[in-house]
Amino acid sequence: VRSAGGDSIVSLSKSSHAALNRRSIVEKRLLLALDQKNLHVLYQPQVDLKSGNITAVEALVRWDDEEIGAVSPDELIPIAEETGLINNIGSFMLEKACEQAVLWKNAGHAIKVSINSSVREFRDKNMAKSILETLERTGCPANLLQIEITEKFALEAEAETGIIKQMRALEKEGIVFVLDDFGTGYGSFRYMQLLPISILKIDQTFIHSLKSKKNQQLVNGMVQLGKSMNLTVVAEGVETEEQMQFLTSIGCDFIQGYFVSKPSSTEEISSLLL
Ligand code: C2E
Ligand code: CA
Ligand code: CA
Ligand code: CA
Repeated sequence: VRSAGGDSIVSLSKSSHAALNRRSIVEKRLLLALDQKNLHVLYQPQVDLKSGNITAVEALVRWDDEEIGAVSPDELIPIAEETGLINNIGSFMLEKACEQAVLWKNAGHAIKVSINSSVREFRDKNMAKSILETLERTGCPANLLQIEITEKFALEAEAETGIIKQMRALEKEGIVFVLDDFGTGYGSFRYMQLLPISILKIDQTFIHSLKSKKNQQLVNGMVQLGKSMNLTVVAEGVETEEQMQFLTSIGCDFIQGYFVSKPSSTEEISSLLL
């Protein structure tokens, strides 16, 4: 396993070494950032295609570390999931989202706030309880909170009764579950029978490729599937007027994406609400 390949073996181990190193640095800085509450939240609006109003916002984590710079969610979330720090990020985001929903409500805007949850957070037996406690502590009504779970999460959760129980308990209190990244899973819809999902969010890859007739038919099929199950349908990653018009014409309920607004600060969202 040497000779000509010798070099590539050395460089392979070098690069995996670098990846490990990066991960442990990110983990260390993340622990500190969580401790000092140095993460922050941006909100991206969702617009009701019937009324044109913003009715909900999605909370997205942002982290700009003073030593290692900005770490994107696409790098941060997998590391946090592996190390278990996702539970800390989750409670931080939940707390922030609830506080913000109350601020907007008190300013006369009853908009829902959606947070993203990882399956690992729901493996904690106290997840439902601690969500309800946070609602109580912040004074946030349960019906202003939405929880987004990915289709991948749903596929894992359908085999775990502990997770299903907690989701049902939260739904009973008025919390709404959103199925995120819809269309990226593998065929099975069994989770639809088992999990209390009320909203389907079509993955942005399908929206970005709407120029093709085939993809228009696919997205139309997804919207009709959602409607036939009495679900609300959201399209994410909407970037152009044409995409919005197509989605309106097939009866999609809500859109989210750069065409409406990028993820924004609370001040920017508040001014959009006026
Ligand atoms: P996601 O939940 O599917 O969120 C949508 C992502 O698409 C966001 O990326 C958003 O900034 C981006 N986006 C929104 N509109 C457009 C558009 O019109 N065009 C394009 N090209 N992109 C758009 P972001 O903020 O980088 O987050 C990436 C992923 O990281 C999220 O995907 C979500 O899975 C995860 N994530 C972010 N925040 C959290 C969090 O607090 N907790 C957990 N568990 N995951 C999070
Ligand atoms: Ca999401
Ligand atoms: Ca998504
Ligand atoms: Ca995604």
